[in-house]
Amino acid sequence: MEQRADQIVKTMKTKGLRVTPQRFAVYANLLERKDHPTAEQILQDLNQEAPRSSQATVYSSLQALCQVNLVKAVLLEEGVCRYDANINRHHHFRCKCCGKIEDIPWEQLPEMTFEQLRPGLQVEGYEVTVHGICDRCEE
Ligand SMILES: [Zn+2]
Ligand SMILES: [Zn+2]
Repeated sequence: MEQRADQIVKTMKTKGLRVTPQRFAVYANLLERKDHPTAEQILQDLNQEAPRSSQATVYSSLQALCQVNLVKAVLLEEGVCRYDANINRHHHFRCKCCGKIEDIPWEQLPEMTFEQLRPGLQVEGYEVTVHGICDRCEE
């Protein structure tokens, strides 16, 4: 999912988002990684190069990016909000040992039907979280 800087800016503008250095840095960071980081992890990563990001700006950048659907917040553990720049439909695998979260392509799992649900429940979407142990932890 690597994108060049001008493409990233273009994507943000297409969504009607005002491009600020902070928003750009947060979005570019998220596009580079696939590990579904928390806001704190993004902040740490950004400040490795030049310590100038604050927690507040990272949070507000994430909020802005989520609002225009460039970034999705994923809640796979209680109380922990992680972020994902992969906004295509996909599922997740979560390793219970290392906590690593990996994307599962949508087509790899059978499509679900919701006919069994009680009447009155309107389904708008779903995604599956598969729990288990990843190959690196099993060794
Ligand atoms: Zn693992
Ligand atoms: Zn994901």
